[in-house]
Amino acid sequence: MIVKQDMTTADIANWLLIFARRVEADAERLSELDAAAGDADHGSNLRRGMAAIRSLIAKESGNGRPGECFREVGLTMVDTVGGSSGALYGTIFLRFAAAVGMTSEVVDGNAMAAGLEAACQGIVDRGRARAGDKTMYDALEPAARAFRAALSAGRSIEACWTLADEAASAGAAATVSMRARRGKSSYIGEKSIGTVDPGAASIALLIAAASEAVSTSRH
Ligand code: ADP
Ligand code: MG
Repeated sequence: MIVKQDMTTADIANWLLIFARRVEADAERLSELDAAAGDADHGSNLRRGMAAIRSLIAKESGNGRPGECFREVGLTMVDTVGGSSGALYGTIFLRFAAAVGMTSEVVDGNAMAAGLEAACQGIVDRGRARAGDKTMYDALEPAARAFRAALSAGRSIEACWTLADEAASAGAAATVSMRARRGKSSYIGEKSIGTVDPGAASIALLIAAASEAVSTSRH
């Protein structure tokens, strides 16, 4: 078997369609999580974005380079998701685009690791989030770290995503015991303890979708 080492624009389009499906299936749960400490709109915000992403993918049909695709997705998220998470999801994809560049035909493991790291830095820059603040950063940063560690250990891109997926899920689960220090849920202080942060939960879906896309793509 040939081990997959790169992601094409078609893989990225597949990743986004899987993410859209997962968000649509879990939109109510995401909004319920946001109801616990926020304004109950995270699921509906992301669902609106996913409808726009589906149209974008239908229009572009996997054409163009990966960096261009990430850029279009980032701009679409900013325009359609709304809320704090729209700006932050937009930043994630725009940072992926910048890290991957506009000239490469494929995204290799190193470019993807750099993209995940740049996305984490983007959340810090835009949201001033730090580890333990109970935000999406607490799922994204462990995923980026696990991806890089697996890559440095010589693992395939598929294995890197599998390990990133586990780290993102564990990171999201760990937000239960955290007290929110950023975003709307920070207003209620101690009462934010006891539920998963909705943004961390949706990031876990994003990383799980990447893992599924890479493992189901033809090698
Ligand atoms: P809003 O908070 O504007 O209603 P959403 O409900 O769509 O937006 O998204 C809420 C999620 O956004 C939170 O669960 C958290 O993960 C993330 N978030 C909000 N503010 C910040 C921030 N300053 N830094 C990092 N993440 C943030
Ligand atoms: Mg909200």
